[in-house]
Amino acid sequence: MARVYNFSAGPSMLPESVLNRAAAEMLDYKGSGQSVMEMSHRSKVYEEIIFSAQSLLREVMNIPDNYKVLFLQGGASTQFSAIPLNLLNGSGKADYVLTGQFSTKAYKEALKYGDIKIVASSKDKTFSYIPKLNKADFTPDADYFYICMNNTIYGTVFHEIPDTGKVPLVADVSSCFLSEPLDVSKFGIIYGGAQKNVAPAGLTITIVREDLLGHARDITPTMLDYKIMSDSDSMYNTPPCWSIYMCKLVLEWIKSLGGLEAMKERNVQKAKILYDFLDGSKMFNNPVNPADRSMMNVTFVASSEELNAKFVSQATAAGFVNIKGHRSVGGMRASIYNAMPVEGVEKLVEFMKEFEANN
Ligand SMILES: *Cc1c(COP(=O)(O)O)cnc(C)c1O
Repeated sequence: MARVYNFSAGPSMLPESVLNRAAAEMLDYKGSGQSVMEMSHRSKVYEEIIFSAQSLLREVMNIPDNYKVLFLQGGASTQFSAIPLNLLNGSGKADYVLTGQFSTKAYKEALKYGDIKIVASSKDKTFSYIPKLNKADFTPDADYFYICMNNTIYGTVFHEIPDTGKVPLVADVSSCFLSEPLDVSKFGIIYGGAQKNVAPAGLTITIVREDLLGHARDITPTMLDYKIMSDSDSMYNTPPCWSIYMCKLVLEWIKSLGGLEAMKERNVQKAKILYDFLDGSKMFNNPVNPADRSMMNVTFVASSEELNAKFVSQATAAGFVNIKGHRSVGGMRASIYNAMPVEGVEKLVEFMKEFEANN
């Protein structure tokens, strides 16, 4: 069996031990005589899966008791509308920081529902940095303040969580979920699509502070109402059963390795290997502000378009796949989520060194 090193930004690699476990349990989950894919979500055997996924997530992320965990569908993009529909219920105002395509999409969605302000943006330099935030620009009576924590396409991250005082902070953490410890109590809502770092596609996780529940606008579709989802333990309708099961296996894997502290240590090590090489290279260069570099998505460009294309094609042939940058920025991007082994990054750097020497 030949497995490649998959640097995809999402869906992305899953830990091999998790895939093996899922394969072993595929036809007969714990003596039930069924696959998890075939079970009723109302069965005892499935209830055990969804409730332990939730309690494991609470344990691994150290989620305070006054937060609810919701297992939803529709991807992170559906939350772009769910957030204003659930939270824009006081002044009708919200602040957004634009640090890339996903926060811009979220902003445009929110514009449909209220008085939305861009408090800072890094669009002027193709989102290659995290803009400085000035508290004087914040809307004091905003219903919430929105950021995209890790910018998957551009390879930047908020290393500091903005202090928004009493205004609830909402963060899209799709591409940095479970990559390191995070102080959940600093946020009103944390959410993300699972397909980057948590599970296969189909599951969206929203962690919401209890006092933010129950104020959705009248027009909010039932499926987007956090209170309804919370009251029904994320089973108002059929949940994404298989992805939730895979999420549980991934959380067990994280726990077995030592939790989020250990994840962070591994992720820091992997990112350092790659950035150290890029900083010393005469051919490759990382185009983002060094202080804002992401640990999960490392973007880089070679010295010409021709070399970019040649690199992508030779890397793919050598088993380093999905390394082409996002179509909007070009160049290359290595997404090195939790499941990418250190060895995968070491081998990629060896390959890049050779490529540089030969070209
Ligand atoms: C991938 C991604 C999204 C979009 O997620 P979908 O689940 O495909 O809707 C949104 N935000 C960020 C930060 C992402 O990385």
